[in-house]
Amino acid sequence: MKNKTKEMESIRDEVFTLNKSPLYNFRTENNYYPVLGEGDHNANIMFIGEAPGRNEAKQGKPFCGAAGKTLDRLLASIKIAREDVYITNIVKDRPPENRDPLPSEIEIYGPFLDRQIEIIQPSVIATLGRYSMIYIMKKFDLESELEPISTAHGKIYKTKTSYGPVLIAPQYHPAAAIYNRDLITTLEKDFKVLATLNKVG
Ligand code: URA
Repeated sequence: MKNKTKEMESIRDEVFTLNKSPLYNFRTENNYYPVLGEGDHNANIMFIGEAPGRNEAKQGKPFCGAAGKTLDRLLASIKIAREDVYITNIVKDRPPENRDPLPSEIEIYGPFLDRQIEIIQPSVIATLGRYSMIYIMKKFDLESELEPISTAHGKIYKTKTSYGPVLIAPQYHPAAAIYNRDLITTLEKDFKVLATLNKVG
């Protein structure tokens, strides 16, 4: 079996020197780090957010700011340890002003995410927010089933990958719950569904 850590390290090194990225200069000028992801390389559940914010880029860790606190709360509510899942984003560098990722950024970073999925081989992919939902649904030939996040959240989509079946579970982005308290209740309900999909071992 290939060494998962080594493969992840080579992705990290490639992203680190990705000077053709439109976000590379913004990263280096601000002494930010790329955010590759963290967690168990054999996780059953992989969480995919959009792009790092300022806290994440300062520390090189995904979901360590305000949205991360909400994610941690949600994981705690279903008794899943953060170390037992894998958490990453589509875009690995922080976009200025926390704006939404641009198509050109998704295009340049998407292949790194694709490789991470191949390495981890999760049985469940929980997308956080609409950009990662759209990216993952398209990638796994579910484009015809795409619907707005307001109706897709909490649903489970089955698909096949090169390594076996996978369940896609779109979630609202945890940052949305910071400004909309009703959404936290919805996210908690949807995370309960996610918990039922988690296999041990
Ligand atoms: N929002 C994201 O989509 N990803 C992070 O890592 C932090 C905030």
